[in-house]
Amino acid sequence: MTDCIFCKIAAGKIPSEKVAETDTLFAFRDINPMAPAHILIIPKKHIPNNLALTDDDRLVVGDAYLLANRLARELGVAGAGFRMVTNNGPDAGQAVFHLHFHLLGGRPLGWPPG
Ligand code: 5GP
Ligand code: ZN
Repeated sequence: MTDCIFCKIAAGKIPSEKVAETDTLFAFRDINPMAPAHILIIPKKHIPNNLALTDDDRLVVGDAYLLANRLARELGVAGAGFRMVTNNGPDAGQAVFHLHFHLLGGRPLGWPPG
């Protein structure tokens, strides 16, 4: 999608602090980190949010969680604990309408979230 900021980041047209890339996924540091480790994992394919997922996307969602495990270990937060969060729609505060998984860790995370 041409006017989507995360499509541009995945394509390298907008710079980001990349931490990992696969055929179908791109992972980079959040520009406004909410925790010492705050990574965004996105499918390269433009998917607006969780509600827009189809059967064709099953593999990419599973791969995103497996990549999160790898990154959590590499970033040293796997043992202490981390969180994967996807915001959907206004009440959840979704600001970017390209599906993304927040990987958060490196500090105690409150529950319930705000
Ligand atoms: P949402 O509220 O949609 O779940 O979260 C969007 C996230 O994207 C926010 O945490 C915000 O800081 C991050 N973000 C927005 N624009 C950019 C950008 O241009 N670069 C990076 N690295 N992160 C961004
Ligand atoms: Zn997009």
